[in-house]
Amino acid sequence: MTRTNAQPTASHFIDGAYVEDDAGVPIPVIYAATGETIATVHAATHAIVEQAIASAARAQAAWAAMEPVERGRVLRRAAAIMRERNHELSVLETLDTGKPLQETLVADATSGADALEYFGGLAADMTGLSMQFGGDWAYTVRKPLGVCVGIGAWNYPTQIACWKGAPALATGNAMVFKPSESTPLCALKVAEILHEAGLPAGLFNVVQGLGDVGATLTGDARVSKVSLTGSAPTGRKVAAAASSTMKHVTMELGGKSPILVFEDADIDDAVSGAINGNFYSSGQICSNGTRVFVQEGVVEEFLKRLNDRIATAKLGDPLDEETNFGPMTTLAQTDIVLRHLDTARSEGATIAIGGTRLDREGFWIEPTVLTGLTDDMTCVREEIFGPVMSVLTFKDEAEAVARANATEYGLSAGVFTRDLARAHRVATAFEAGTVWINQYNLTPAGMPFGGSKASGIGRENARMAMDHYTEAQTIYVGMSKVEAAF
Ligand code: NAD
Repeated sequence: MTRTNAQPTASHFIDGAYVEDDAGVPIPVIYAATGETIATVHAATHAIVEQAIASAARAQAAWAAMEPVERGRVLRRAAAIMRERNHELSVLETLDTGKPLQETLVADATSGADALEYFGGLAADMTGLSMQFGGDWAYTVRKPLGVCVGIGAWNYPTQIACWKGAPALATGNAMVFKPSESTPLCALKVAEILHEAGLPAGLFNVVQGLGDVGATLTGDARVSKVSLTGSAPTGRKVAAAASSTMKHVTMELGGKSPILVFEDADIDDAVSGAINGNFYSSGQICSNGTRVFVQEGVVEEFLKRLNDRIATAKLGDPLDEETNFGPMTTLAQTDIVLRHLDTARSEGATIAIGGTRLDREGFWIEPTVLTGLTDDMTCVREEIFGPVMSVLTFKDEAEAVARANATEYGLSAGVFTRDLARAHRVATAFEAGTVWINQYNLTPAGMPFGGSKASGIGRENARMAMDHYTEAQTIYVGMSKVEAAF
C-alpha cells in the first residue's frame, strides 16, 4: 500500500461485496502529511443506505441463531488476519489519518484485533440471571438488538470500526458502519477481513457519507441502536434523533480531561503521561488530559523536563518509522486549532512551547504548551482536539479536584502521586468515566471505556459492552396453581 494505490475497490461494502454508486457526492481522501488527494469515495445515496440496512436486516436472524461459539470463531479468525496484515493495515491507517507509522503499527489494527479476539472469546458467554420467588422462579435471557448503526470519528478509523463491530457481532447483531468522511478507507478493510474470516454477507456493511448519511441511518425505524464516536454537539443531535424511535444509544464524545500532578509524583512518569495525553496522534484523542494541573512546588521542574522531552519530538514523513509526531488529520481541524491558539494569545495566555503551523505542505502544528492560564480562559474550557497542552498550577488536593471537575465534560482523568490513599481518593472523586493512576490513555479491550456528563452515555469494551448490544428478556415461570379473583 502506498499513496499511489490507496484508492479502495469501491466506496461501500454491502452484503459481502464492494459496491459503487457514482451518483453520490464525491469525498476526497487527503493525505495529511502533504495535502494531496490520494483517493476518492462517494457518499451513500438513499439507494445505497437502503441496500445496506436491508441486507443487515436480512442476515441478522440467522446469525443470531448460530451457536455463539461459532460467531466467536469468525471474530477470532478476523483478529488473526488483522495481525498477519498489521503492516499493510498500519500503512493504510497512516495514509487515512496522517498518524505516524510508529504509532499505527502498535495502536490501530492491533487494538482492533484485540477487540475482535476479546469479544470473539466472550461470544459464548452470553449468560442471564435466575431468581427464586417461593416455588416460582424467573430467569433472563440476553437477546441481540437487531440492526445496529456505528458512526465513527476520524482519529481512529480501524479501532472505532472494531470496537463497535466486535461486540455487536459477538452478541448476534448486524451492523451498518459509517466512517468519518475524513478517514473513509480503513473500515472497508475491516469489512473485507471480517468476510474473509467467514462472516456471512450482510452482517457488517460500510457506507460512506457526511453527517446527513449518519442522520438517515439514525432515523431509520429498522435500526435498533446507534453507537456514535464523535463530538458532544453531534452526540446531542444523534441521541435526540434516536429517541424518536426509542433506539438504544452509546455515545463516545469529547472531553477536556484533567491530569493532576502532585509534588510527590515521579515527575518523569508524569511528564510521559502528559506527553501521551496531549501529543500522541498529534493530540487528536478524545480522552486526552489537556488540562495538566501541577502542584506549585514542582511546576518549574515539570516544565523544564517537558521542554527537554518535546525538543526530541521527531516531526517528518509519517511513513518513516523514526517519526514520532505527525500532522493534523484535516485542514479544517488545523484551522480550528490555530483559531484556538489566537484566542489563547488574545486572552493573555503564554505560548511556552511551540504554537505555530509549520511552513511546509500538509497540516502540521508544533507540539504546543500554554502557561499563564486561568480556568476561565477559552483554551482551558473548550476541547481543542490538537497538540495543545494547558499547564495550570494548584496548591492543595481539594482545590485541584474541584477545579478538575469544573467542566461540562467527564470523559477521563489522571492522577500522578506516590501516595496510595490519595491516588484512590482523588480517582473516585473525579467526575469522569475512565481514570488512570500513574498512567494515562491506555485502553485495553478488557477495560470499560466511556464518558460521564457531556462526554457520553454507555461504555465500550469489556464485558459491559455485551450488555449495551443486547437487551434482557425476563421469563417468569409459574410452578403452582394460578389464583384469580373470580
Ligand atoms: P463529529 O462529531 O464531527 O463527527 C463524528 C461522526 O458523526 C462523523 O462520522 C460524522 O459524519 C457524523 N455526523 C455528523 N453529524 C451527524 C448527524 N447529525 N447524525 C449522524 N451522524 C452525524 O466528530 P469528529 O470531528 O469526526 O471527531 C472528533 C470528535 O470526536 C472530538 O470531539 C473527539 O473528542 C470525539 N471522539 C470521541 C471518542 C470517544 O471514544 N469518546 C473517540 C474519538 C473521538
